[in-house]
Amino acid sequence: MASEDVENKRIVTVFGATGAQGGSVVRALSEKDSPFKVRAVTRNPESERAQELKDIGCEVVEGDYDDYESLRPCLEGAWGCFAVTDYFETMDKSSEVQEGKNILNMCCEMKVAHVVYSGLESTIRISGLVCDHFDGKADVEEYMKNVGLDKYTIIRLPWYYENLYENTPPMKIEDNKFKLPIPIGNSLMYGISVDEIGPCILAIFKESEKYHAKTIGLAADHFMIHTCCKILSQHLAPAEFVHAQISCDDYEAQNIPGVKELANMFRYYKQARCERNIEQSRILYPYLSTLDEWVAMNKDKLLKAFNDVSHQDTGNSHAKR
Ligand code: NAP
Repeated sequence: MASEDVENKRIVTVFGATGAQGGSVVRALSEKDSPFKVRAVTRNPESERAQELKDIGCEVVEGDYDDYESLRPCLEGAWGCFAVTDYFETMDKSSEVQEGKNILNMCCEMKVAHVVYSGLESTIRISGLVCDHFDGKADVEEYMKNVGLDKYTIIRLPWYYENLYENTPPMKIEDNKFKLPIPIGNSLMYGISVDEIGPCILAIFKESEKYHAKTIGLAADHFMIHTCCKILSQHLAPAEFVHAQISCDDYEAQNIPGVKELANMFRYYKQARCERNIEQSRILYPYLSTLDEWVAMNKDKLLKAFNDVSHQDTGNSHAKR
């Protein structure tokens, strides 16, 4: 591509660029034919992850949600912005809300044309269940609607398939036998590969007018835990997976950080109130992987992760500090 074409591309600032959601957005917006060029934000521009972003052609800038002025150079001259806040960094709702507001206020100051925020619905308003990592984002969503942005879109993600090897891995009962301790009984759960949200966000930015003021619940599939176990057993044989049928109360009794929060999230999922829209998601990106397709593609990675988990170790935690 000629250098003047690259110069003409619109800048999109991606927050959380070294993480799961932002990383996926960075990769999609950095594809050869993308009309956008990425400005990737991190608190540590010298990290290995930041170097990987530079290697694929991103401009990498330093910014911290908690330092308002640091966000100015991140957004100066940007046409678009993808923002995700990370509740599990501080596990404090008011901090996450303030971080979201800081990003949105600076987007207004810098007159960013289109902002996409990764929000979540308010579990407390819908179901009475307190789940701070949902409710904080819901507060930011409300703020976003009235803060005076030119165009905005809210996306809401479901459970990442990647949680299977990162945050909620199966428990090893014996060699080649695992149980999956996800406490939602026989309710349906929506899912997506977080790695595949980038193309959805690219489609939103490409049709900016169409998606202005829309809230889109992204999902690629929905399934019950026993179906998930069947899929895992089929693809990872001779390893065998069974539904642990753990209750939310037993899940909550575990001594792990943030467990009350997550137990309420699963209670909310169990009430089938976490609505996502597979059809609309496939309009944005028709190639979204079903759970079955994703497990087939990630067999080796999953087996390695599961075998690294010690017997009876749930490993169930999102907490970072
Ligand atoms: P992640 O992979 O852990 O990455 C976190 C990113 O946030 C990193 O890039 C980090 O950047 C950046 N970050 C954190 N604090 C920052 C700060 N103060 N200033 C600037 N950047 C900061 O997280 P993720 O999975 O992409 O997103 C986490 C969010 O996803 C959570 O809030 C969670 O509620 C939500 N979510 C998760 C799921 C799920 O199934 N796991 C589903 C729906 C929603 P640096 O460290 O490089 O600065």
